[in-house]
Amino acid sequence: MPEGDAVLRAATRLNQALAGERLTKADIRVPRFATVRLTGAHVIETHTVGKHLLTRIAREDKKLTLHSHMRMDGRWVVGKAANRPCAGPDFQIRVWLVTEHSQAVGLRMAEVKVIPTADENRLIGHLGLDVLSPDFRSEEGAQRILAQGNAELVQVLLDQRVICGLGTMWAAEMAHNMGVNPYAPVDSMSGLELGLDYVRGEMMAALTVSPGESRSRLMVFERNRQPCRKCGAGIRRGRIGTPPYQRVTYWCPSCQPVP
Ligand SMILES: [Zn+2]
Repeated sequence: MPEGDAVLRAATRLNQALAGERLTKADIRVPRFATVRLTGAHVIETHTVGKHLLTRIAREDKKLTLHSHMRMDGRWVVGKAANRPCAGPDFQIRVWLVTEHSQAVGLRMAEVKVIPTADENRLIGHLGLDVLSPDFRSEEGAQRILAQGNAELVQVLLDQRVICGLGTMWAAEMAHNMGVNPYAPVDSMSGLELGLDYVRGEMMAALTVSPGESRSRLMVFERNRQPCRKCGAGIRRGRIGTPPYQRVTYWCPSCQPVP
């Protein structure tokens, strides 16, 4: 599942392709919004909050937001303007936007909506601090996590209402960096501020290298039974959360002992 850094990367691609340009074609293949007319409108920018993409568009005197969320395997692909989508297959296309020079195709998006920009808060107002926002303060982030009482660390890190932008990958990596078991309760936990600084730094670094290179740096995520890069113990994998909302997490039994 794309996490905050992958979403920010997608926004950068969308801004390079669309920002400041007039849409010569806008095809929204989601029944509820299929009749929304965006052709001729100007794309202002694509902004991100956590894992949500907000593409802001000016149509005459109205400001609209095309909201998209990639969930498990959605993807934005950009390319040169053409008479046909630069990515497919066709049945996976949810959005197709074209300008004079470029195009963007939204594939397998779990959520696509068009709303007045003034109403964006209805979609993102519940989100906690965005770990990749320039305004993010790890001290405030740590306080919000501590306020979750006896909830398990990784479960809290995945709760987008507390901190947004982390998914199973970065949550597991942060816990390993802190030397804390993913199932440890957060109350009276120390080191959260440093853990947040670490994960934020790693996410920022991931923006500047290839996804493959970024993955090769991971300490525990999807490294079940492989040796810990710090101590050599075999990495473990387990489920966290309550069914049916369980997620997978990874940890080193030696660096992150059970509390
Ligand atoms: Zn270890």
